[in-house]
Amino acid sequence: MTKARRQQNTAGQEAAALRQPGSASRLQGEQRQARAYIGIGSNIQPQEHIRQCLALLAKLPHSQPSGESPWYLTRPWGIEQQPNFINLVVGLNTGLSAPALLCATQAIEQRLQRVRDIKNGPRTIDLDILLFDDAVIETPNLIIPHPALLQRDFMLLPLLDIAPKQLHPLEGRRLCDLSDRIQYHQIIEQLPQP
Ligand code: ADP
Ligand code: MG
Repeated sequence: MTKARRQQNTAGQEAAALRQPGSASRLQGEQRQARAYIGIGSNIQPQEHIRQCLALLAKLPHSQPSGESPWYLTRPWGIEQQPNFINLVVGLNTGLSAPALLCATQAIEQRLQRVRDIKNGPRTIDLDILLFDDAVIETPNLIIPHPALLQRDFMLLPLLDIAPKQLHPLEGRRLCDLSDRIQYHQIIEQLPQP
């Protein structure tokens, strides 16, 4: 796929789209449902924070979680001197736009007292939007597909558990055909079902 297909999904375009005929009814509950995949990670009381995170995702407006990967124990990426992480991926059917979903996931991070003092440091919760339908978005605060998706086993392998046939919109290939691209092998083991 060429760079030309990348959408500049700015707030202005979003506002313009909402002014299109019919947009009022979409705002009142007839939103087009998209399928998003969200990567979740935690290395501060991870079991507890991930459970709380899943409960908060289930309460997002116009959204229904659908599909949860196994949980994986993983070595930290970036800074090695910190506790291991637990990572997983969930599917979410949502009427939210991608920027609105980013706001919602960042609100969950704040609610779970995520502090951004050290880049790649310990965190109560990290929510990354890996895919949003077949959208290709490149804005200053949102890039989809997530740029590290094909590099990090703790993002791609749990996503493969729940969506192996999903197309990667930039590669034009199924995720199950892209696992040879992984560069960072951080997974220690799959955890027993909680
Ligand atoms: P990281 O996930 O790399 O550890 P953060 O969670 O602190 O880092 O996110 C840094 C920034 O990444 C956020 O402020 C957010 O705007 C941006 N970002 C860009 N694309 C995405 C995406 N697909 N999902 C989540 N955040 C994203
Ligand atoms: Mg993040």
